[in-house]
Amino acid sequence: MRKTVSVALLSLATALAAQTSIATNPPTPLSERVVQYAIDAQIDPVKHTVDATETLAYRNLTGQRLTSFPFHLYLNAFQPQSTFARETAEGGGIREVEREYPEHRRGEIRIASITADGFGDLTSAQRFTAPDDGNTSDHTVMEIPLPHPLEPGETITFHIAFHDKFPESIARNGYKRDFMMGGQWFPKVGVFWHGAWNCHQYHATTEFFSDFGIYNVKLTVPENYTIGATGASTGMTHNANRKTMSFYAEDVHDFAWAASPHFTETTETYLSSMGPVRIRVLALKSHPQAGPRYAAILRQTMAKFEQWYGPYPYKQITVIDPEPGSAMEGMEYPTLITGGTSWWEPSWLHILEVTAEHEFGHQYWYGMVATNEFEEAWLDEGINSYTEVKVIESLFGKDKGILGGTYASAGDRDLQRYEYTLAPDYDPLTRFAYQFRNERSYGGITYGKTATALLTLEGMIGEDTMREAVHQYFMKYRFTHPTADDFLREIEKAAIAKNRVYHSFAHVVTSGDPFTSSGANDSLVPVDFAPALRFYFHQAIYGTAVLDYAVDSVTTQPMQWWKPEPEDSKNIDYRNTVIVHRKGDFILPVTVEVAFDDGTRTRVWWNGADRWQRFTFQKHGVKVISAEVDPDHIVLLDKDRFNNSYRVTPHSTAARKLTAIILFLEQCLSQVTTWIV
Ligand SMILES: [Zn+2]
Repeated sequence: MRKTVSVALLSLATALAAQTSIATNPPTPLSERVVQYAIDAQIDPVKHTVDATETLAYRNLTGQRLTSFPFHLYLNAFQPQSTFARETAEGGGIREVEREYPEHRRGEIRIASITADGFGDLTSAQRFTAPDDGNTSDHTVMEIPLPHPLEPGETITFHIAFHDKFPESIARNGYKRDFMMGGQWFPKVGVFWHGAWNCHQYHATTEFFSDFGIYNVKLTVPENYTIGATGASTGMTHNANRKTMSFYAEDVHDFAWAASPHFTETTETYLSSMGPVRIRVLALKSHPQAGPRYAAILRQTMAKFEQWYGPYPYKQITVIDPEPGSAMEGMEYPTLITGGTSWWEPSWLHILEVTAEHEFGHQYWYGMVATNEFEEAWLDEGINSYTEVKVIESLFGKDKGILGGTYASAGDRDLQRYEYTLAPDYDPLTRFAYQFRNERSYGGITYGKTATALLTLEGMIGEDTMREAVHQYFMKYRFTHPTADDFLREIEKAAIAKNRVYHSFAHVVTSGDPFTSSGANDSLVPVDFAPALRFYFHQAIYGTAVLDYAVDSVTTQPMQWWKPEPEDSKNIDYRNTVIVHRKGDFILPVTVEVAFDDGTRTRVWWNGADRWQRFTFQKHGVKVISAEVDPDHIVLLDKDRFNNSYRVTPHSTAARKLTAIILFLEQCLSQVTTWIV
């Protein structure tokens, strides 16, 4: 009896084990799992090296015979002759500008041997390629031709031995004092996508694109070190002053780790609709307040993402608080993010919170919805900057997202708009990340302009419509590699389903002529506007046209101008004139609100197509005092909003005060923007 029971229990336990996952709450695979990595790594924090063996099983689901395999060797970017180094020296980088390349800043990854079951020893077949720029000195992509093809449906298993030399912290990789971070540290296979291998070189502005799969990783460090890594911990062994920690991750497309002897651990649980999620914060002892602050913002952010966009299916999220000045702040990897704080950061300055929110957002926009960051960076950084504004505003208020002080405040949308207005008009959102003219253009367009364009769109089609679109996009494309078309199609579908649009935007399809209307408020009105959305996308997403509408002049003249003006101005008719000017090439219908000296206001709408438009108002005894384009502040994409309003008597004091506040903000915001990637 007893034996029978235990056998039954055993088989029940086995059955349960088969239905539960170590690293995700749902028991069944979430992705196609093209790759399966097993890595055993010895980390030396004194020499700053990693020696490892890697087994990679790759399933050929491409439907084609594969004759070669490309691998990313990211650490080779940290050499002066690399494309990455040249780009940072020439155009600046989102990382740092390098003007010299001392030995301790150099990194390297070397494959000592590579074999594949059934394909023999491929070590001598290694050859470097440079698919993007032909730089023969760039060793960030290595290709292995196979002696015979891998047939569709077959799996190839590589066995690789490699050696890493970490540079002193650069681009979220390397060491700082005794802290080590392995961001892009192992040979990683490219993605067979749209009929060809997609394996770009490492560039100053590019990051990742890889297939989903399983990672089984052992990391060996000195006993006094604590490690945080992608996935969930599955055990620890000790051997002669060193310890080996095992990690397991599934349905992710990368694996990163960080190790320090100075970490203190804070753990909390977030209960998602799919099951409990462990929030593990590894903060430096010198930042005692950071652990609870990270945990709190993570809990709040996860709840918002789940409520608005969809569930987080993994069992863990790890937050690393990196060494100050290590160039490792604000970075995302699957189920692992780095934050950024300092001992002095007061609670009203939300840099820690915004950074943690942003990096967690990447678990959705890059982590699960795995777009090609080399080619369409706006789909992760840009959408993520938009959702960052939404979450931060909902948590801290619209105007206090970044600075929540009593005497000074600044919102996250201001930060995004600020970045956008600084960006030159060289590049559309859709430019390949490494083909932007320079770093400023890349950053301002990819992050700031995308967020601002999506916020403008939200104003035009409604917040609930945008939320529905982003939710559908996440649910449909998680664990796949979608493109811009997929994202824009979801917006279009949601908008058509809601069939409502902001009044002035409607006129792009319903009215070819400017017209006036009094008393009506702008609101969401029904209209068939699918062509209007395409018209907007064409300019905002695919184009570089500048959007800038301005009120050029506001004037009043008696109708009978040739007669002397009587003492009682209430007794004659006036012709009031407002001239609105389209200064840029971006065409968008606009609303203009006009105020008169009897306290009344009226709104007029213009399709915005011509270069300028005159509106006249004949009034008995009433003069115009001001006019404003976009009175509801919907069109954040308007590059210069200072020229949006015009008063007959300018208020110079207010303008001066505003300038002072903007100068102060500029300091704070440039600090924030250098931290978050
Ligand atoms: Zn980012």
